[in-house]
Amino acid sequence: MFDNLSERLERSFKILKGEGKITEINVAETLKDVRKALLDADVNYKVAKTFTDTVKEKALGQNVLTAVKPSQLMVKIVHDELTQLMGGETAEIDLEGKPAVILMSGLQGSGKTTFSGKLARMLKTKKNKKPLLVACDVYRPAAIEQLCVLAEQIGVPIYSEPDSKNPVKIAENAIQEAKAKGYDVVIVDTAGRLAVDEEMMNEIAAIKKAINPNEILFVVDSMTGQDAVNTAKEFNERLDFNGVVLTKLDGDTRGGAALSIRSVVNKPIKFVGTGEKLDAIDQFHPSRMSDRILGMGDIVSLVERAQEQYDEEEAKRLQKKIAKNQFDFNDFLSQIAQIKKMGNLKDLASMIPGVGKAIKDIDIDDNAFKSIEAIIYSMTPAERSNPALLNGSRRQRIAKGSGTNIQEVNRLLKQFDQTRKMMKMVTGSKMGKMMPKMK
Ligand code: GDP
Repeated sequence: MFDNLSERLERSFKILKGEGKITEINVAETLKDVRKALLDADVNYKVAKTFTDTVKEKALGQNVLTAVKPSQLMVKIVHDELTQLMGGETAEIDLEGKPAVILMSGLQGSGKTTFSGKLARMLKTKKNKKPLLVACDVYRPAAIEQLCVLAEQIGVPIYSEPDSKNPVKIAENAIQEAKAKGYDVVIVDTAGRLAVDEEMMNEIAAIKKAINPNEILFVVDSMTGQDAVNTAKEFNERLDFNGVVLTKLDGDTRGGAALSIRSVVNKPIKFVGTGEKLDAIDQFHPSRMSDRILGMGDIVSLVERAQEQYDEEEAKRLQKKIAKNQFDFNDFLSQIAQIKKMGNLKDLASMIPGVGKAIKDIDIDDNAFKSIEAIIYSMTPAERSNPALLNGSRRQRIAKGSGTNIQEVNRLLKQFDQTRKMMKMVTGSKMGKMMPKMK
C-alpha cells in the first residue's frame, strides 16, 4: 500500500539529515520534494500545495532550539498534517434506529456489492447486529445473483424482488420487512453505471428521499486516483453522502484518492477494502494510515487483528499442554489456522514498523503454510499427537503422501522440535505467569 509514496517521502526527509536546524532554505528544498512525491502519487494539485504550505509554516514556526533533529521534526509535522488531511479523527457510522438504514452509492465495478457483503459480515460478527442485505439493481439480474451468493457465504438474509423494476419500492418494502422481522441494519445495494449519468443520479436520489437513510456511503475504487476524487465530487453534489469507502487499497494504489478525497468533498473516509475476500475490510483510521504512509507500520491494527482472533479458552488449553510438553501437531495446525484467519500475510507483515519497506518486492505466498499443512495432514492421528513415532519409514510415507520430499518433512520436524523446546523454556519462566492475563 502506497509503497512508492512512502519511499519518496523518506527520501525527501533525507535532505534534512545532518542539518543542524530548520531554515527557510532547507525546508523549501525538502517540501519541493514532498510536493513532487504527492503529485506523483496522484494527489490533487491544490491539496498538495496547501499541504506543503501548511507544513512549511509549521516547520518554520518551531523553536529551533528544540532537542529534536530537523529531519525528525519534519517527519512529525508531516505525519500530523497527513492525519489532518485524511480527516483527523476516525469517523464512525451511524447505526441508530431500528432498523438503521445504510444506502450504498457508486459506479459499477467500484466494489459496492462486495463491500455491502463485507459490511454486513462485519456488523454481524463484530457488532452482534442482525443485518438485512437489499438488492436494488433492477437492470442487471447478475447483480442480484452476486449479492445472493455473498449473502449465503456470510449467512445474512437478502431481500430482493427479481421481477420488480422499481428500486424505490424495493427499498421501501425491504425496510418494512426488516421492521416486521426485527433486523437492525438494512444495507441497500444500488445499481451503478460505468459513468455518472443523470438517470442513475435521479434514481438514487429518489431512493434516498423515500427511505431517509442513516448513512449514504459512497464507494470508490482507489486505483482510479483523480477520477475517484472527481466522481466523489459529483455524487456528493447530488446526494450529500455521509462517508467514503475506498476499495482496492490492496492493489497498486498510489494513494492520491485516499489523500485528496477528504479535503475535496469534506466528507470522511469511513472504511477501506483491502482485498476480494469478505473479511478484507478495515475501519479507516487517519493516524494509523499516516503511520503506514511514513513507513512506521501499524502495530495498533496488527494487535487488534490478533485480539479479534484471540481465543482465551484455546490459549489456556495450549498453555497446559505446553507446560506438560504435550504440544503436538494438532496444536500446530490450529495455530496456523489462527494466523491465517488474521488475513493476508504480506499485509500483516507490512504492519510491523520497518518491515513493509523491506519486503516490498518480496513475494510472500499466502500459500506459505500449504506444504506444512499437507505434511501434517498426511500423518496418522497417532503420529500427530505423538511425533516421537515418526521414524524413517513413516517420514518417507508422509513425504510421498503430502507431495513433498523427505528434506521438507525433516525440516518441519526439526522446526517443530525447536518450537516445542522454546515453548517449554518460555513457559517455565515468566511467560507462564503472563499468559493467563494476556488478552
Ligand atoms: P460493484 O459493481 O460496485 O458492485 O462492484 P463489485 O462488488 O462487483 O466489485 C467489482 C470487482 O472488484 C470484483 O471483482 C471484486 O472482487 C473486486 N473488489 C471489490 N473490492 C475489492 C478490494 O477491496 N480489493 C480488491 N483487490 N478487489 C476488490
